[in-house]
Amino acid sequence: MTLPFDVDAVRADFPILETEVDGHPLVYLDSAATSQKPRAVLDAERDFLERANSAVHRGAHTLAAEATELFEDARVTVAEFVGAEPEQLVWTSGATAGLNLVAGSLGYAGRLREGDEIVVTEAEHHANLIPWQELAARTGARLRHIPVLHDGTLDMRAAADLIGARTKVVAFPHVSNVLGIVNPVAKLVTLARGVGALTVLDACQSAPHLALDLPASGVDLAVFSGHKIHGPYGIGALWGRDEVLESLPPFTTGGSMITTVTLDEAEYLPPPQRFEAGTQPVSQAVALAAAVRWLGEHDVDAARAHEAELEKRMREGLRSIAGIRLLGDTDAAERVALQAFEVEGVHAHDVGQFLDARGVAVRVGHHCAQPLHRRFGMTASVRASAAIHTTEAEVDTFLDAVAGVRGFFG
Ligand code: PLP
Repeated sequence: MTLPFDVDAVRADFPILETEVDGHPLVYLDSAATSQKPRAVLDAERDFLERANSAVHRGAHTLAAEATELFEDARVTVAEFVGAEPEQLVWTSGATAGLNLVAGSLGYAGRLREGDEIVVTEAEHHANLIPWQELAARTGARLRHIPVLHDGTLDMRAAADLIGARTKVVAFPHVSNVLGIVNPVAKLVTLARGVGALTVLDACQSAPHLALDLPASGVDLAVFSGHKIHGPYGIGALWGRDEVLESLPPFTTGGSMITTVTLDEAEYLPPPQRFEAGTQPVSQAVALAAAVRWLGEHDVDAARAHEAELEKRMREGLRSIAGIRLLGDTDAAERVALQAFEVEGVHAHDVGQFLDARGVAVRVGHHCAQPLHRRFGMTASVRASAAIHTTEAEVDTFLDAVAGVRGFFG
């Protein structure tokens, strides 16, 4: 059943939003780092552990069968959330693990060699950069990047020049975790497909905000993290096209991913189990399914419209405060409600502490995107990121607090 969008009703589902910080109501604007969990998710994980906890796929007993059913049902639910089939969805411990799996597996498969090129963007989270650096270093391939323009959008002219006959992989974020800008997936896919390169989408920051249809997006592989879409820690997923997953060897090996093993060699199960060696995050998968079911209960378009209002209010409000510099300040691209900025003359950490003393939780630092900060001539910024439960009044509390920063430190 789809509920009409009512932010107060949404908030009532999150016990943590009743928290006070130093006598101030918590204003949680750090959802891009990790999202809060609705009761449905907390209950689902507890319920699994209390009633069905057992090892999956192996046991002959009733509890094991029930745990296996819940675990595989969770795969169906989370796959549906991204428009995919369950066998295309590999459980991982998060986006970082998914990206290491892809880069590592391509390396094992010998799919890159000297002279080949891997293309990323200047706006990568380190999780979608360092695995490619490692792969390049081990294979002799060259790592290249699509520059970010001053307004935060990607330099698509440079992309068209960069992506060529040598390109084997194009990896990019759907939404930058610093700029909040939605990247032109279709255009990048067209460029990559034109030269037969594999596309890898980091959907960490889009999954909480945009309706995803990964098969329709044209990319070959994509990753996201459960804890950023109101699910638990320690779980995420790698999605891949059937033929792409089938072409990749396992990156981690061990129990639960084989058909037969001798002392000399092993035969592997087909995807997704081929990539799921060892004991899996079962209660987390069940709770992640509860998270996406919970998200699905809300009118997606109305929630998106609500977040678009928050984004506008936040960015316009910040723009109107003297001494604020925004990263990625453009109206020319679709965005999510996530904004990084610096306050002239005040270190990001001081801004964070000042806001915290008023109950406002934001992220400070480089947000695992040092190259992007360097591109904008800074080492750290403040990032405010909203979620489905954020209210306009909370954005105003945040803006009032930011407006007081320079007066306090000045
Ligand atoms: N990619 C992006 C864009 C992110 O924002 C993050 C987390 O902040 C990651 C990758 C890594 O996610 P995780 O730490 O959950 O593996």
